[in-house]
Amino acid sequence: MDRVIFLVDMNAFYITCETTRNPDLAGRPAAVAGDPKRRSGIILAANYPARAFGVRTAMVLRDALRLCPQLALVPPDHPFYEQKSAQVMALLGGYTPLLEQNSIDEAWLDMTGCERLFGSPLAVARQIMDRIKSELGLWCSIGIAPNKFLAKMASEMKKPLGITCLDLPDLPERYWPLEVRSLYGVGASTADKLVGMGVTTIGDLARLDPAFLAARFGRQGQALHDHAWGRDDAPVTPHEPDEAKSIGRSTNLSRDLTDLDEACRILLVLTDDVAASMRRHNKRGATVQITLKFHDFSVITRQGRIPPTCSTREIYGQACHLLEQHWDQKTPVRLIGVSMSGFAHDLGDQLPLFELEGAAVVPDRSGKQDKLDKAIDDVRSRFGSASVTYGKLVEDKRRHQEPPD
Ligand SMILES: [Mg+2]
Repeated sequence: MDRVIFLVDMNAFYITCETTRNPDLAGRPAAVAGDPKRRSGIILAANYPARAFGVRTAMVLRDALRLCPQLALVPPDHPFYEQKSAQVMALLGGYTPLLEQNSIDEAWLDMTGCERLFGSPLAVARQIMDRIKSELGLWCSIGIAPNKFLAKMASEMKKPLGITCLDLPDLPERYWPLEVRSLYGVGASTADKLVGMGVTTIGDLARLDPAFLAARFGRQGQALHDHAWGRDDAPVTPHEPDEAKSIGRSTNLSRDLTDLDEACRILLVLTDDVAASMRRHNKRGATVQITLKFHDFSVITRQGRIPPTCSTREIYGQACHLLEQHWDQKTPVRLIGVSMSGFAHDLGDQLPLFELEGAAVVPDRSGKQDKLDKAIDDVRSRFGSASVTYGKLVEDKRRHQEPPD
């Protein structure tokens, strides 16, 4: 291999984080779920014993409990997962400065030329996996390949606790038989189109004329062809989380939704996650964006501005406002997302400089809400998120929402 790229991906990350502080969860079916007190919440992460019962991410709680009545449920605690993630990244950073975090639970490492320091790629990968397990109590899978794309594909091949090397000569035997749907970065609608054209495996895709793919899929056509042939020149680019231009979360729903209350509850779980991440990175944003993907795979994004904030309540207010304004509640929705951008540079204790007329949310000029959110994060990181709930959200009679815990 010219380059040696690792993708380290944590297995069942949220629920394994929970198991590190509650060993009772080990070995029995358990899941992190939004709003476990209500049967309408959704599964955010299921451990492997739960998956053996068919429990999957984004499944509605009542469906999960039907499959596995003894499922232990834990409310999400994103500040805690961010902490664990930072520990993982710090450990990985000890192996190479060329580390690119791809999400809370995975990162690429450029390990080219590291043999002399640490031994063969396979030996280093084993060491990394062992240390993540023994020092942090977490599980990971590692893909080793000559580029980022193949490393990501390799990391998916053996889970949990798998190490997979995938080099270009291996492609015909081990990569081309895979379903075209499993290609990283290929959305459901592109996959449907490909399958509709009789392209079911990655090998089928590799055999297509790149000019035909470009005519059919535009710029994505060339990327599809390159990826089918395992080609990817993208460098591993280290970046600080602070450089992020936006912070967002989205979730695929296990079934299409037409119910506003249910959609709002999912939005609240996602918003709480986004806001907690903003507070950890000391950011306030002014632009709230929601994303809706409908049953026919069409996607809309809608934005609204509010005074810069990192308050769950204020962001959630605007997100709900957008949802109500731009969704007829008849067209079934299959994905919901929320993100924040328009970050103010210096946070300090500044008050918002402007006020918006007709803003869905009245800014909290005293900064009390910020302090409250911070205090909640603090308590959660020490005692777990079940300890604090958003009383104001619970009392919000307009929607009868319950908190994400
Ligand atoms: Mg991952």
